[in-house]
Amino acid sequence: MTDAPIGDATAERLILLLVGAVGAGKGTQASILSREFGLVHLASGNLFRAALAAGTPLGEAAREYMERGELVPDELTIAMFMEELARPAADAGAILDGFPRTVGQAMALDDTLAAAGERIRRVLSIEVPTEVLVRRVAGRWICPQCSTTYHEDTDSPNDPGRCDRDGTALRQRDDDRPEVVRARLDKQVPPMLAVVEHYERAGIVDRLDGTQSIEAVTEAILARIGPRVAS
Ligand code: AMP
Repeated sequence: MTDAPIGDATAERLILLLVGAVGAGKGTQASILSREFGLVHLASGNLFRAALAAGTPLGEAAREYMERGELVPDELTIAMFMEELARPAADAGAILDGFPRTVGQAMALDDTLAAAGERIRRVLSIEVPTEVLVRRVAGRWICPQCSTTYHEDTDSPNDPGRCDRDGTALRQRDDDRPEVVRARLDKQVPPMLAVVEHYERAGIVDRLDGTQSIEAVTEAILARIGPRVAS
């Protein structure tokens, strides 16, 4: 497996896997990369929620698992991604986000892609220490009146604890409380690391320091992937 930039003109479309915990900046990088390379951003949770909202057979099949907060069975999840990858929007390639989430899913996806003559080209792992992630997420505050969001470190209100627009007392989302964030990370991180390990064996992982600025992380990714592959 080569370590050279891979975004050169090639017949093989660019399928990337973006890995990162809550607060690592994965969504931000996904939208930048999607614009830069003309890739479709396939985020598993969003796809399932859209299927559920649209009442499709897939959404109905996924419903009970989602409501229980469990993983949807692999066959359904893989079928959903293969269907998304077959759409014209994915002609230039795709950014997979939230899938594969376990080594079992990774192996099943590798086999399914290989049968179609494809593969994940690179795995971008945005890495941030747990305590930094907790601080990032737990520092978020929102105005219950106008929904303006603030952050203790980067975007604090002029009058501490009050909205700049309407003076309402700011609140923290239940999901953003430090102990909730820690519990979420404890559950999320070990399988994520196992997936990265799995692709490490194929030599296709780029580990990125997610404590840097958004721009620096993007730069580091572009340095790995190379020039644009899509117009
Ligand atoms: P998320 O927004 O990533 O937390 O995902 C919301 C829900 O979608 C999860 O609780 C699962 O039920 C389902 N889901 C998301 N990603 C996967 C996946 N890779 N495999 C199976 N189910 C998933």
